[in-house]
Amino acid sequence: MMLILLGPPGVGKGTQGARLADTAGWVRLGTGDLLREARRDGTELGKKAQAYMDQGKLVPDELILALVRRKLDELGPDAEIILDGFPRTVVQAEGLDALLVESGRSVDGVLVLEAPEEVLVKRISGRRSCPECQALYNVYFDAPATEGICDACGASLLHRKDDQPGTVKNRLEVYREQTEPLIRHYEDHSAKVLQVDGDRPMDEVWTGTRVALREAFGVEV
Ligand code: AMP
Repeated sequence: MMLILLGPPGVGKGTQGARLADTAGWVRLGTGDLLREARRDGTELGKKAQAYMDQGKLVPDELILALVRRKLDELGPDAEIILDGFPRTVVQAEGLDALLVESGRSVDGVLVLEAPEEVLVKRISGRRSCPECQALYNVYFDAPATEGICDACGASLLHRKDDQPGTVKNRLEVYREQTEPLIRHYEDHSAKVLQVDGDRPMDEVWTGTRVALREAFGVEV
């Protein structure tokens, strides 16, 4: 299975992707996470990506395609993969197709999550994460018991620079202009495009995801 998770920032791709990885054992390849890791490690890629990310802009396609190529090579041709946050432009989608042809694979499906803009803004700007144990919180919907402190391990929570309100607006605009057109791209390239309503509690979105995968591919996750 090669499944793409597509949707605006804050719609819950990361949550659904992590749950799919946990229950189905598929590998979640999240380019945002890989870039943040590269920044933490101070690699060349991390340094190049930093300014783009902090402004809510897309990191150049060639850097992203090189990163994904390396990861796909590491995983090998038989891995079941969920792509989260990639592709984000038509150039990336075409680059991915070219990479997959080399290993005789193709994209099986695209799971599209959507939610209204005001919900997304609240979800993203309220997001906090634990740098130690990766636990996620939201100051509006799922606040930690003590403000700024992780319930699970006591570390100080992070508010991502690109989750600040000014940058969130840029990220949503970039999504509408550059990434949303990919839905059409995949419809035209006969991948199965599955639409799931992301404007519901997480467990209901998960049910929607499972039903969509069962109906489209006959897989139980
Ligand atoms: P995310 O965690 O997926 O929201 O990604 C955070 C940031 O990383 C984005 O706002 C971009 O700056 C960068 N990024 C992640 N994935 C990509 C991608 N496929 N193409 C370009 N930039 C990306």
